[in-house]
Amino acid sequence: MHVKPIAVFDVDGVVADVRHRLHHVAHRPKNWRRFFAGADRDPALAPGVELAREYARDHRLVWLTGRPEYLRPVTERWLARHGLPVNELLMRPTSDHRPAREFKVEQMRRLGETGEVEIVVDDDPAVVSKLSEAGWPVRLADWVPYAESLREAQEREGRT
Ligand SMILES: [Mg+2]
Repeated sequence: MHVKPIAVFDVDGVVADVRHRLHHVAHRPKNWRRFFAGADRDPALAPGVELAREYARDHRLVWLTGRPEYLRPVTERWLARHGLPVNELLMRPTSDHRPAREFKVEQMRRLGETGEVEIVVDDDPAVVSKLSEAGWPVRLADWVPYAESLREAQEREGRT
């Protein structure tokens, strides 16, 4: 049996453009409820969407996002609306506030046991370096500059 290699894609900053809602968490008090409530209206990032579609043709496409689990319906709807397959979507448990890279490196370890990972695409330089160190073939999504406010959110508060 032919087993497809795995392609792992992040969502925010790779296929979804979160910039329109960053202002909700750029200043204190941060409004996480409103930040996440805007996810449904994220514009698509064409380079990421095209890349994901390309990989989906002959790879097992797995989404790996730091978004909290309660955003699953919104995220699945959004991906489907942009013509992206949503068979596998790994999300952060709602109570998990670790930095994104810790969550993702752990998920990659599990995923790696289920098949051969050919590529991981993520826009967070901290995630990319952590996964590279762990030996994963990571590509930095650099079509949107990684937002400073989002970095702080992931590092200090483990929220995205
Ligand atoms: Mg991201």
